[in-house]
Amino acid sequence: MDYNMILESIYTESQKCFGKGKVSSYIPPLARIDSKKYGIAIKTVTGEEYKIGDADEPFSIQSISKVFTLTNIFHAWGNKIWKRVGKEPSSNQFNSLIELEKDHGIPRNPFINAGALVITDMVCEHYDNPKDSLLDYIKKLSGNNNIIYNEEMAASEAEFGYRNAAVANFLKSSNNLKNSVQDVLDTYFHQCSIEMSCIDLCRACLFLANNGKSLEDEVLLGFRQNKKINSLMMVCGLYNEAGNFAWRVGIPGKSGIGGGIVAIVPGKLAITVWSPELNKNGNSFVGFKTLESFTTLTKESIF
Ligand code: GLU
Repeated sequence: MDYNMILESIYTESQKCFGKGKVSSYIPPLARIDSKKYGIAIKTVTGEEYKIGDADEPFSIQSISKVFTLTNIFHAWGNKIWKRVGKEPSSNQFNSLIELEKDHGIPRNPFINAGALVITDMVCEHYDNPKDSLLDYIKKLSGNNNIIYNEEMAASEAEFGYRNAAVANFLKSSNNLKNSVQDVLDTYFHQCSIEMSCIDLCRACLFLANNGKSLEDEVLLGFRQNKKINSLMMVCGLYNEAGNFAWRVGIPGKSGIGGGIVAIVPGKLAITVWSPELNKNGNSFVGFKTLESFTTLTKESIF
């Protein structure tokens, strides 16, 4: 497969799609991002890398961080995590409180904010220094020691994080947070502020395409655990548009409102795209289109 040629053709073709979405504006450091940024990277399980455009430029990974907290704690704790968070898609907005009350404080899945906050609470319980340990884990997965928390971004998330604070308080009142609301929110806002490039994200997520193992054969997730994470990404990874993503793209993925989407072709590769203009569901407009073209041109979807 000539991935370089495919990336070039998608990159050129996608230029006409710019201007149709809107950069996230709920916090100032995200609102400032140049809407024309566009990068794509691929890493295959045989170790080859391909990239085009702004694929080396770090951007705010936002909700893509939910994959890393989840894989970290699932590997450490195993199935007991599912007593406190569900595995069903949600048709409500990612930061909704509606279902949480109906479901007695057990979030539908780990990729909506309520579920991610419960997972972050577990990370806070598991590590003495959760923020350091989480960053170390991501540095190790990506092989990049320069990955950082963007402190300005984290502070801004905290300043405007009324909705997340409401969700965290509701979880606490339902007995589904063990740590203080403040500690969990602080770790959560920091994980959202992590900056990585498309190529960092491909390297860090490649194990999900490789049966849970690094290319050096280290087990990062058991085979069955890996299958479960990919399944969850498939049904819950794109906010309340996961059905549309499955329909149009046909592979597991996880998006963030920084405009990144990581997607996995099981057994073959990880692909990441970054383009900050979002559609009305909070997913990268051009990113979505890029991945649709990718699976169409390569016929590398799981269906
Ligand atoms: N920091 C954002 C929030 O929690 C993450 C949103 C996202 O990427 O989905 O509201």
